[in-house]
Amino acid sequence: MSTTNYYSSASSSAICFSPHGVPSKCWCGENITTFTSKTKENPYRRFYRCVIAMKRENEDHLFKWVDEALLQEIRMVEEKCKLVAQDVNALRMEVMGTMKLHNINFKKMEDAMSKKIMKTVGVASVILCSIVWLWGRV
Ligand SMILES: [Zn+2]
Repeated sequence: MSTTNYYSSASSSAICFSPHGVPSKCWCGENITTFTSKTKENPYRRFYRCVIAMKRENEDHLFKWVDEALLQEIRMVEEKCKLVAQDVNALRMEVMGTMKLHNINFKKMEDAMSKKIMKTVGVASVILCSIVWLWGRV
């Protein structure tokens, strides 16, 4: 980190072309460094800028206040959290729907098994009674 007294405020063109959130590179390809403003308007306010921009003041390079970039970053994370929460909710609804369908199918299978068992027990009872009755006659 170094200090400078060049920048009193962000130029409007720099704001228009600034990437959202914390920048990692300037559009000239140079890495971004954090500098500290020493102006009356923004004393000790930190900003992002590439080293080339600090040497060549007349060129148009990325400029962004650190506090504004961090605020944008937090809002981006909040938006991502909302999307993740929506995805989780949609997934939960899908799983609950699938579980409900499985429960219905399981209940149908249980009923069908129950009917088959009752039918088998009924037939077996008739056969057993017939055998006992026939045995008794012999
Ligand atoms: Zn640059």
